[in-house]
Amino acid sequence: MDHFIYRNGQLFAEDVSIDDLAAKVGTPFYVYSQRTLEDHYDRIAQAFAELDPIICYSIKSCGNVHLCKALADRGAGMDVVSGGELHRAKLAGANMAKVVYAGVGKTDSEIIDAVNAGIGWFNIESEAEFENIAAIAKRLGKTANAALRVNPDVYDSKTHDKTTTGKKETKFGVDIERAKRFFERYGQVESLRLNAIHLHIGSPIYSADPYVAAINKAMQLIDDLRQAGHHVTTLDIGGGFAADYQTGASPLAADYAGQIVPLLRDFHAGGGTIILEPGRTISANAGLLVTRVLYLKTGGRKKFVIVDTGMHHLIRPAMYEAFHFIWPTSVAPQHEPNARQETLDLPGLETCEVVGPVCETADAFAKDRALPPVARGDLLAIFTAGAYGMVMASNYNAFPLPAEVLVNGDRATVIRKRQTYDDVTALEREAMAV
Ligand SMILES: *Cc1c(COP(=O)(O)O)cnc(C)c1O
Repeated sequence: MDHFIYRNGQLFAEDVSIDDLAAKVGTPFYVYSQRTLEDHYDRIAQAFAELDPIICYSIKSCGNVHLCKALADRGAGMDVVSGGELHRAKLAGANMAKVVYAGVGKTDSEIIDAVNAGIGWFNIESEAEFENIAAIAKRLGKTANAALRVNPDVYDSKTHDKTTTGKKETKFGVDIERAKRFFERYGQVESLRLNAIHLHIGSPIYSADPYVAAINKAMQLIDDLRQAGHHVTTLDIGGGFAADYQTGASPLAADYAGQIVPLLRDFHAGGGTIILEPGRTISANAGLLVTRVLYLKTGGRKKFVIVDTGMHHLIRPAMYEAFHFIWPTSVAPQHEPNARQETLDLPGLETCEVVGPVCETADAFAKDRALPPVARGDLLAIFTAGAYGMVMASNYNAFPLPAEVLVNGDRATVIRKRQTYDDVTALEREAMAV
C-alpha cells in the first residue's frame, strides 16, 4: 500500500535510497512519498466517484504546505481546524469554496479570516458559536454556510478513547434532538445559512459499520428537518478512515465506499452535496520517520536501542500506545521484512526496546520488538508516520524539529528545513516591556 520498498536489503522511498538521503540531510527526518500520498487520495476519489464528493483533506493529519499543494493540485479541498491551517490551505493554493472549518474554539480573528476568504462551510459546534459567526459575517456584510456538527452517538470499540469523538458525551457537536431545535432556532439566519449536517465519529475507524450507523441516523435527521421545512443541501461524513499501521489492517477505500455509497445515492441524486474529510488514510502510509541508532544498552534482560528521535517528534506511541512498524533501512537479504506487523517469522531476531533521548519514561517507540541485529550508527525507519507525526512534534527538551523531505520518483526535495538552535530560541532573543 505504499512506495517504501526494500531492494537488495536497502530501503527506498520510490527510487531514492533512504541511506543516501540520510547522508545528505542528516537524521532524524521525515520522508514522504508523493506517489503514495496521491495514490491514497485517488483511491478515495475513485471509490466515491459516483457521489461526486468534495474531498477535503484534513490538514491536521500532515500539514506541510508542499503536501497540501500536491493534493490541492489534484482537486482536493481542505478540512481545517484553525486559522493556522486556513493559512496553510491558502499557501497551498486550495480552492476556498472547498474548505470546511471545524473546531470547538474558533476565535473572532480566525472567523473573520475565514469569512473574508469565502470558505465553503463553517462546521458548527454550539449555539454560542453559531451566533458569534453569524454576527461577525453580518458585520462584515458577508454571508457564509454552516454545517451543524451532530453527534450520532456511535463509535468503534477499536478506536482509542483519546480519538473517539462521536460518543454522546464528548465535547464535539450536539446530539440529534438538540440538532432539531438548532435548526428551528437558526434555520432562517441570513448571514450564516445553516444548510448542512456534519459528522466526524473518530479515528481511526477500522470498519464501515460505524459510518453506516451514523449516516443512517443523519439521513433520518435530514428527512425530519426537510419535513419541517428546513433546507438541508449537504452532508459531511467527516474523516477517520484507517491506515495500514500493520500490513492489510485497514479496509480499502472501496470497502468503505461499498457500504457508504448506497446510503447516499438518493440524497446525491436529489441534488445533495457530499463532503468527505479524510486525513490519516491519505497521509499516514505516505511518511516514514528515519532515525539513527545512538547507543545500545542492556538493562536486566532487556536490550535498549537508543535512537536520535523520540516522543518529541512522533508522540503517537507515548500518547495513544500506537503501534508503528520499525525496521533497519539496510538489512541482510534474509531480514527483508515480508510484512509490517508486530511479530515476523524471520531467523536471528532479537527482542529490543526502542527508546528516544527525551527525559520521560514514556519516550519509547516499542517495548518488546523483535529486530534484526542493529549496531550504533545504523538507521531505522519508523513506518506509517505520515499522519499525526510532524504536526504533533514539539521542541520539548529543546530538541530542534526534524527536516521533512518529499520524494517524487528519483527526485528528493527538502520541503521543510531542519530547525537550528537559533530557530528554537528565535522568539526569545529580545525581551520587550508590555
Ligand atoms: C481529525 C479530523 C478529521 C481527520 O481525521 P482522520 O482520522 O485523519 O481522517 C476529519 N474531520 C475532523 C472534524 C477532524 O477533527
